[in-house]
Amino acid sequence: MTVEAVTNGRDEAETQCCGTCKGQSRPVSRKTVLLMVKPHLLEQAMTGTYSFCAARECPVVYFEEQGSHSFTIDDLRVRVGVKESADPIPSCYCFGFDESHLRDEISATGEATIPARISSLIREGLCACESRNPSGMCCLGEVNKTANRLRDSSQS
Ligand SMILES: [Zn+2]
Repeated sequence: MTVEAVTNGRDEAETQCCGTCKGQSRPVSRKTVLLMVKPHLLEQAMTGTYSFCAARECPVVYFEEQGSHSFTIDDLRVRVGVKESADPIPSCYCFGFDESHLRDEISATGEATIPARISSLIREGLCACESRNPSGMCCLGEVNKTANRLRDSSQS
């Protein structure tokens, strides 16, 4: 049995590692990629299977699983909240909540009602994460994480 010389030595796991930061990623649909990249780049996203890199420090947003092509934060029409450290930092794309909304609420009241408001809007079927969120995933996990981080730092 011969080993193909074309592999670049990456681990073959369920999820692909980002070729730039070697971090974990998750698959993203072509629909999401096509909705997010700038119009002049659409043709580059017509083929290939892409994954989303969620690492904060990594400029790569989408990378091709079986290839070398990638799209960076500059190639997208929207700001990628998980990769931004300056406002505006989008937290919830469907309902338009930014990290600053969470921050203001927590500093004013010590509480965050936004995650519960998002939950009820999701229950009403009003979310469109595959179309609006660059990760293609529901934003609620990230919103809760952000709310917890802000609450912790406001108490210390
Ligand atoms: Zn990366």
